[in-house]
Amino acid sequence: MANPIITTRAPGVRVVASASTWIEGEALRQLDAAGALPGMREAVGMPDLHPGKNGPVGAAFLSEGLIRPALVGSDIGCGMALWQTGLSLRRADPGKVAARLDGLDGPWDGDSAGWLAARGLAATAHDASLGTVGHGNHFLEVQAVAEIRDPEAALRIGLDPGRALLLVHTGSRGLGEAVLRAHAERHGATPLRAETPEGAAYLAAHDGAVAWARANRDLVARRALEALNAQGRRLLDVCHNAVTPVEAGGCRCLLHRKGAAPSDRGPVVVPGSRGDVSVLVEPVPDRADAPWSLAHGAGRKLARHEAKAKLKGRLRREDLARNPFGGVVVCGDEHLLWEEAPGAYKPAASVVGDLEAAGLVRVVAVLHPLVTFKC
Ligand code: 5GP
Ligand code: MN
Ligand code: MN
Repeated sequence: MANPIITTRAPGVRVVASASTWIEGEALRQLDAAGALPGMREAVGMPDLHPGKNGPVGAAFLSEGLIRPALVGSDIGCGMALWQTGLSLRRADPGKVAARLDGLDGPWDGDSAGWLAARGLAATAHDASLGTVGHGNHFLEVQAVAEIRDPEAALRIGLDPGRALLLVHTGSRGLGEAVLRAHAERHGATPLRAETPEGAAYLAAHDGAVAWARANRDLVARRALEALNAQGRRLLDVCHNAVTPVEAGGCRCLLHRKGAAPSDRGPVVVPGSRGDVSVLVEPVPDRADAPWSLAHGAGRKLARHEAKAKLKGRLRREDLARNPFGGVVVCGDEHLLWEEAPGAYKPAASVVGDLEAAGLVRVVAVLHPLVTFKC
């Protein structure tokens, strides 16, 4: 059955977005170009689609036997983890919470090798950054539940509306970048067959970066819990930059996700921005025409330099350090305050609205940021 939200641009190239969702022309051109690559079966853009380096962000690509590392990108394993904390919201003053998190921009002084070994991982050359959030749009956020839309699902997931949540967005830091760089130096833009030694080597390095990124999110959450003197439990950890082998219609395919959350691994948080809601959703079990993926965020409306140029004259510095929910923003980087301003992103509610209208998710809860920590 045709769904009015899912449009086909060319054979195998689809976009999940309502007519009122703005998507930059360059992002659509990148999606079409990726969809036309040899061996590509499907390219699906989500409502958060925006232009990226070597391919659009907010999309999934299904190829027949070929690995295309550029369609995963450099931050291999980047993702969102949501933790339920024991911190009572009634006692969580945003200013005090922000002050407690202040030390988290520094390196972790614990045993990185031990932390990795406990997860079955070997030490790497990048472990000095383990336990740190990193730059750009990576963040650590203390969230409050603003609204529960599906109480049964919320209970199943373990959400406690009276207590603060932690949302961690970070990835594999220098490790994933090194994996992509090494690949590009050796093979350029040539895709790899999964069953060759080169393909297997990329996949092994990739899987290592995905696991490292997950261990990193765990450690960032642990450091934050310690700083807040609170207990915590991980509710979900969803990676949005990765390639996964899948069986699809008799083919051994590779599903690349570049800024797309999987729709087959439980609940997902679609973050908005530091001044917007984030939305906890539950994927609806896949239909035959489903794109196996969901949006990974609200998606950029303005490129970094555009955001800075456009918003700098309009917003006062003080306004950038607050959010509309009475929360605060901790950010040591002057440029990021503009580049990552809420006005640079689409509204999360409309992106999630498109996913709902496409029959891909049900909304479980809406979250507000109390403290956004970026460095
Ligand atoms: P990406 O993985 O492409 O770097 O970013 C994922 C998404 O995170 C963006 O599309 C945006 O919606 C969201 N985002 C960026 N900065 C923030 C922030 O400070 N707080 C929240 N809640 N979301 C953010
Ligand atoms: Mn990332
Ligand atoms: Mn990311």
